[in-house]
Amino acid sequence: MQTEQQPCAVAEELSGYLDGELSQQEQQRVMIHLRSCPHCQQLLADMQALRGDMKVAVHVSADARDLPKIMGDKPARWLGILGWSALILGVLLVTSFFFWELALDLLTNSSVPWWVRLGIAGFYLGLLGLFLMVLRQRLVAMKTDKYRKVKL
Ligand SMILES: [Zn+2]
Repeated sequence: MQTEQQPCAVAEELSGYLDGELSQQEQQRVMIHLRSCPHCQQLLADMQALRGDMKVAVHVSADARDLPKIMGDKPARWLGILGWSALILGVLLVTSFFFWELALDLLTNSSVPWWVRLGIAGFYLGLLGLFLMVLRQRLVAMKTDKYRKVKL
């Protein structure tokens, strides 16, 4: 039986044991030793507690830093995506219906000068471009969120 003044050789491997960095053989050795050594058991428990505290501390600071992101947990995210999709689709359908009616009226009306028709075409192209840009931004934002999640 060893004393506190003479720590076991295994004690140095406890950190690696906790991190799962040991080889299977080393791990087995530490495990077997732990069963018969209260000193190392205590040491391991202390290390675990310390790491737990560190993890909690890191977690808390992450929470504070990423509060808006954490508020957007998975169900909320999906509801958000669903809501955005429905909103975009609805706005798109309603506005395109009205604008289509208006454009058709103007384009088929021969009393409308050509530059107004050109303006209408430009307006439509611009609208389409802006919509695609917003869509792309949303997709990029979603990708970035995913990346951040993995990093955490
Ligand atoms: Zn020991």
